[in-house]
This record gives sequence, C-alpha cells and structure tokens, in this order.
Amino acid sequence: MEIRPVGRFAPTPSGRMHLGNVFAALIAWASVRSRGGEMVLRMEDLDTQRTSLEYASQLRGDLAWLGLDYDRETPPQSQRSEVYDRYFERLKELGLLYPCYCTRSQLHSVNAPHLSDGTYVYPGTCRDLSEEMRAAMNRPPAWRVRVPDRQWEFCDLVQGEYRLNLATDCGDMVVRRADGVYVYQLAVTVDDGEAGVTEVVRGMDLLSSAPRQMYLQELFGFPHPAYGHVPMLLAPDGRRLSKRDRDLDLGQLQKWVSAQEVIGTLAYSAGLIDQNTAISAKELASVFDWKKLKGDAIFLDAAAFGR
Ligand code: GLU
Repeated sequence: MEIRPVGRFAPTPSGRMHLGNVFAALIAWASVRSRGGEMVLRMEDLDTQRTSLEYASQLRGDLAWLGLDYDRETPPQSQRSEVYDRYFERLKELGLLYPCYCTRSQLHSVNAPHLSDGTYVYPGTCRDLSEEMRAAMNRPPAWRVRVPDRQWEFCDLVQGEYRLNLATDCGDMVVRRADGVYVYQLAVTVDDGEAGVTEVVRGMDLLSSAPRQMYLQELFGFPHPAYGHVPMLLAPDGRRLSKRDRDLDLGQLQKWVSAQEVIGTLAYSAGLIDQNTAISAKELASVFDWKKLKGDAIFLDAAAFGR
C-alpha cells in the first residue's frame, strides 16, 4: 500500500508568480492530489533583501486564484534559524564541518575548475587548515560540509536516471554563509524532512540540488523523497521565462485570462491533455499522469493565451 503522499509548494516570495512557478506548483499539486495526498506551503525567504511579506500574501492569493489549495503552511525559513542551528550542530558533531575563509574572488579564480553550467568545484582550499592558520584569519568564515567521493543516483519522475558525484561535481558544500545565514540546501532539507514531504516537484534548474539534499537527508536521518524536476518554460526566443517577463506574471495574466485557461494552456503544452481547452486544477488532477509529462523545455508566449 502506498503511503499517503505529502507534496509541497516552496515559493520564494520575491515577486509575482510567473508561469514557470505556476507550472511547477500545478504539477506538484496535481500529482499529490490525484492520489489523495496532502500539500504543504512554505515560504522560502532566506534572502530577506529580496523577499517580502507582501509578495508572500500575493503568492497565497495566486495559489487560491489557481485553485491550488494546501492543508497547512509551515513557518517561513527566515524564522527558523534556531531550528537550522540544531542541524548545523549535528554536522559539527559528526566532524564534517570546517570553516572556509575563501573570498568570492578566490572562489571564482581560474584555479577552481568550472563546470559546463558555470558552477565551480570547490577545490578544498580551507579543508585542512591548521588551528593556527584559522586563528590568524580575521574575518568570519562560511561553513562547509565535507562531501564523500560517491555517486548519488536516483530516478527522477520526469528526467529519468540522474547521477552526480558531489566530490567531483561540486566539492564540499557551504551550509552557512559568513554572515550567519543558512543556505538553501540545508534549509530545504530540514524543512522538507520535518514536514514529512515524500515528493519534491520543482523546476529542472534545481535537478543538481537533489543529490546535495539527498546527502544532507542521509546525515540528518530523513528518508529520501521522490523527485520530479519539471521542464523549464522558455520564451519563443529560447530565454527562460523569469520574473522579468512581466506580461507573463499572474498580476498581468489575471487581467485577461481565467485560471482555467492558464492551467489548460500549461497542461496542453506539457503533453498532459490532448487539446488546449480551459480546465480546472481539480480536473487536471483527475487525469494527471507523470508518464505523459514532456521532459524537454516547453516554449510558451503570450500568444499561447490568444492575446
Ligand atoms: N524556493 C525555490 C523557488 O522558488 C524552490 C525550491 C525548491 O522547490 O526546492 O524557486
């Protein structure tokens, strides 16, 4: 018997929802609701400079407009640093943490091997500093967790088999920044784990975060959730739709299309329904099938809504 699925919306309240966010939220919701599961909402507001309560309340309104309901909202990440402290201490007790004094420019220097996606592999510069050397550094450090030289493998619900070796593809990961703010990877692992999330659905851009989170889940004793990384929505010129595409954020779209039209167009473009017809979130849940969802980028523009 399948355990009752628990899914989540984990938006960053830094602007109106754009279609990419709507798409990921819709798939997360339809998958879980199609099996009678529970949905949790959490505001990911670690970056307090970019996020606001006003955007958070607009996000709740946007979810309601779309018909994407949830059973509970867990506290926003900005209020949970004491909880994260406990997990941070656990990593320290395991002997896996060390302070890193590298500056941004050192990290981006030519010495660090860069990957094709522009990220770099941390070369372990501060891994084995002596106590004297650490004491001589007169600035607050970031904290990194040592990663094992081991392949992480999982079968993504959309992208299929995926594997990543954190040691060779990422290097030791920062879990707390020099200013004391915990990073997304730690916060999301703790929050999903504590909320009992069994299924993480989000944009394809976060695919390589899954092995990072799987590693932390293992250290914290949380089971691994299932992962579904949905394709990115692209503008006709191939750019990723983002918060800059103002005409495709919900604040604008709500003026001239219904929620059912937005959902119908997204579901049709993604291969989930055969015709571009208006459909409610509930109707989509009743026909939802992971096998139909396209894995490749989806091109969308305002014309898709008959504008
Ligand atoms: N907060 C992230 C975003 O808004 C999503 C993180 C996640 O789903 O793990 O893009």
